[in-house]
Amino acid sequence: MQDIELYKKVLGIKDPWIVTNVQLDLKQRMVTIAVNYDNSVPVACPVCGGQASMYDHQKRRWRHLDTCQLKTIIECEVPLASCEDHEVKQLPVAWAEANGRFTALFEALVISWLKEASISGVAHKQQPFGPGMPGGCLWATSSTGDGPKERRSQQLTSTA
Ligand SMILES: [Zn+2]
Repeated sequence: MQDIELYKKVLGIKDPWIVTNVQLDLKQRMVTIAVNYDNSVPVACPVCGGQASMYDHQKRRWRHLDTCQLKTIIECEVPLASCEDHEVKQLPVAWAEANGRFTALFEALVISWLKEASISGVAHKQQPFGPGMPGGCLWATSSTGDGPKERRSQQLTSTA
């Protein structure tokens, strides 16, 4: 119970979101925090703010800043709200951008590192979910080589 209260405060989770579980995996050096929507609170359409009905939930995961040197993941069954005018929309969460896989604080940290270090150095330091997991690499959008480093070197050679 104390760990739930601790992570609620550390993550700044506020109503209608609630921390429902904290799972510690020392082998993987990872802590997974389950955050869920308080289903007793009516949902509003994220587009118009009007009254909506709960349609379903969609499970999502975000990499957060490490806590106590443990890789920290937030998991949430995010409600899908159904509005007469705007159909089914996922509710926004307070800790991340709409389609992000990282929390806002994690993104801010990586951006601050990128101001100081090379892209490959930051990519090596942070492997969000580990190999074989969804989003296993910050640079997952790259289809060739090792990502931005290679693209950057291509850009450098093409402009030289
Ligand atoms: Zn609406």
